[in-house]
Amino acid sequence: MIKEVEFDVIIIGAGAAGMMAAATAGQRGKTVLMIDHAKKIGEKIRISGGGRCNFTNVNANAEAFLSHNKHFCKSALSQYTQEDFINLVKKHGITFHEKTLGQLFCDDSAQQIIDMLLKECDDVGVELKTETIVDSISFSEDKYIVKTQQKIYISPSLIIATGGLSIPKIGASKFGYEIAKQFGLKVIETWPALVPLTFQAAVLERCKELSGLSVDAIVRYGKTQFREGLLFTHRGLSGPSILQISSYWQEGNDIEINLAPNHNAYDFLKARKEKDPKKEIQNSLIDLIPGRLAVSICDELNIHGKIAELSDKKIQDLATRINDWHVKPSGTEGYRTAEVTLRGLDTEALNSKTMECKAQKGLYFIGEVVDVTGHLGGYNFQWAWSSGYVAGINA
Ligand SMILES: Cc1cc2nc3c(=O)[nH]c(=O)nc-3n(C[C@H](O)[C@H](O)[C@H](O)COP(=O)(O)OP(=O)(O)OC[C@H]3O[C@@H](n4cnc5c(N)ncnc54)[C@H](O)[C@@H]3O)c2cc1C
Repeated sequence: MIKEVEFDVIIIGAGAAGMMAAATAGQRGKTVLMIDHAKKIGEKIRISGGGRCNFTNVNANAEAFLSHNKHFCKSALSQYTQEDFINLVKKHGITFHEKTLGQLFCDDSAQQIIDMLLKECDDVGVELKTETIVDSISFSEDKYIVKTQQKIYISPSLIIATGGLSIPKIGASKFGYEIAKQFGLKVIETWPALVPLTFQAAVLERCKELSGLSVDAIVRYGKTQFREGLLFTHRGLSGPSILQISSYWQEGNDIEINLAPNHNAYDFLKARKEKDPKKEIQNSLIDLIPGRLAVSICDELNIHGKIAELSDKKIQDLATRINDWHVKPSGTEGYRTAEVTLRGLDTEALNSKTMECKAQKGLYFIGEVVDVTGHLGGYNFQWAWSSGYVAGINA
């Protein structure tokens, strides 16, 4: 017969949110079991921020999150703030730096954040079961019965922290969405987000020839815009500004890109025409955009020769291509490379103050599985810490 073991709190998913919830519940004296199907836990933390983990953002607030209910995240973010997490990082002697736009990274390695969370869990006796597959979950007599191949675990509080669908090769699964559906909760259709954009042949060829080139750019979709780096790759466009806009972009529509945000390209070229009329147009553009990009745009528009020989129309065409490039992505690179999953469990199902389901006592959802998605820049981890803390305080 399979042995039954009781805990005060069971958490499924030992990622960022799950570990935070486990440590917090443990600090309240609760007996906590944390289950993960993966061999190594916290893998997304380990690979985050180029191996240095952009663990929060000093500017974290509700404005940096997408959700069908943009107010939902406010309570958790205020109950456990970026300062709270920064203090935890300092308590563990982890040194860090601000890179840009309020983004905080470990000086050394993302592994320090995993070790810190594991120590916090260990200090309060959290039991961790890795490589453990949950076969089924049921609810009976106010308790959750979690069946695994080895044992049956029973608890009045169950926290689902299994994350989103991005990067399946390191353990992402649709488990959280399936459990939500099992309990009659609505899941809003998910999309890959913070993901590179792909293009049809003509644009793709340009991207390929410019592969590796990075420029400061403003990327716009509708009323939303981001000014950060843009990277040409052999698969299309990437870099922070593109990843950010990918969370907003909808298929079939153009995005607009300003490749020289510090200049009005038309005024610049007109001034150059006056000052240096004999200069080749490609060379005139070099103070505006990188040389490789100048060559590529001139070839694409078939505009060559001395700037003095160019008509106003040609100068305007060049300026438009530089300051207001309209381009239609064909898609995204998908969950294979997406940093996050947009949408997920409808926040309508949850109490924002506790992360508990309104209609299902003792069942909590936290982290990326919920329809709360942050901008690039440490916001997604802050949501994991904040929502994890709140569930850990209430479960
Ligand atoms: C390449 C990359 C870089 C990133 N960089 C940053 C960054 O620098 N800053 C930032 O803020 N965000 C970053 N993110 C996003 C961030 O990693 C996630 O938003 C965050 O990890 C979500 O936390 P979570 O606990 O909800 O889910 P996860 O951290 O994904 O944890 C989910 C856990 O659940 C486990 N699990 C899944 N299914 C099951 C199952 N069926 N049974 C048992 N266990 C299961 C998984 O193995 C995993 O351990 C990055 C993401 C990626 C992919």
